[in-house]
Amino acid sequence: MKKCPYCAEEIKPEAVKCKHCQSELIINNKKRINENTDSVVSRILVTGSLMFIAYLVFQNLVSLSQPSFPEMEQEVRESEARLEKLRQAFDE
Ligand SMILES: [Zn+2]
Repeated sequence: MKKCPYCAEEIKPEAVKCKHCQSELIINNKKRINENTDSVVSRILVTGSLMFIAYLVFQNLVSLSQPSFPEMEQEVRESEARLEKLRQAFDE
C-alpha cells in the first residue's frame, strides 16, 4: 500500500485514481501504462492523437501566419516610424 499524495490516504500501488479524494495519480498512471501489456497500443493511440493535434495546430499556425504576418510587419514598421518621430521631436 502507498499513500495518496493529495489526501495521504492509503491506496493500492496500481491505482490511477485515489478512491478517497478522486485525485488523478498521474505518476502512477504513467508507470502503469509502461508496465501494462496494452501499453504499446495506448502509447501509439496517445502519440498518434498528439501528433494529429500538433499537425492541426501547425496547419492553423501556417494558415494564420500567412495573412497576418504582413499586417504585423506593417504595424511594427509603423510603430518604429512613430518612435523615430518621437525621438526626433525629443532631440529638437
Ligand atoms: Zn487521495
